[in-house]
Amino acid sequence: MQIAIDGPAGAGKSTISKFVAAEMGFLYIDTGAMYRAIGYKVLENNISLEESEKIDTLAKESNVEIKISDHGQSIYLDGNDVTDKIRTPEVSMAASKVSAIGGVRKTLVELQRKIAGSNNVIMDGRDIGTVVLPDAEIKIFLTATAEDRAMRRYLELKEKGMEVNYQDVLEDMQKRDYQDSHRAESPLKAADDATVIDTSGQTLGESVQVITDFIKSRTKA
Ligand code: C5P
Repeated sequence: MQIAIDGPAGAGKSTISKFVAAEMGFLYIDTGAMYRAIGYKVLENNISLEESEKIDTLAKESNVEIKISDHGQSIYLDGNDVTDKIRTPEVSMAASKVSAIGGVRKTLVELQRKIAGSNNVIMDGRDIGTVVLPDAEIKIFLTATAEDRAMRRYLELKEKGMEVNYQDVLEDMQKRDYQDSHRAESPLKAADDATVIDTSGQTLGESVQVITDFIKSRTKA
């Protein structure tokens, strides 16, 4: 079985997906982490985010891996653990830029389908229901107001000890959502057959419950 969860930044996709994966024994695939890994590598190598061809080649030459351990999921880039390094606001923006490059998407979508293989998977991203897993049995488009999403992301970053302010997080998020929804290649949008779930006004815990109940009701049907 394949479950696709798409939606804008900070909608709670990864928290919900991790929880559902653990509950149902599914493999969780965080596709955003893959775009982040490439964005991180571009920044580390001082490559301009406008150099599409160079970035395309860099993505093809990169080894991006998701490893599951007792501590959860780790993301490896060329053999190095970059799990924490890819969670900064700078890398978020770089990920959004590199993800607009067709060649980068092609490379990562291929990898995502390969990892999904014949496993039971829950995959989250922006184009999972529309492009990566168009035949997924369950497709959810998770959304919430920009303010709610920014507040969740702000609290998350603060909890990790990062120096951030709410207004910056909100503006970054709105910019990223705009870029992700308006790019030519696989823009962020709900698949025609996706169920749109708006979690505005809910705590993350409440959203997790709503989605888990929804998925369970669909898998029993
Ligand atoms: O999900 P997350 O916020 O970690 O994703 C980082 C960025 O990667 C997004 O802003 C988006 O530009 C890109 N992305 C994408 N397609 C996906 C997952 C993420 O374009 N399937």
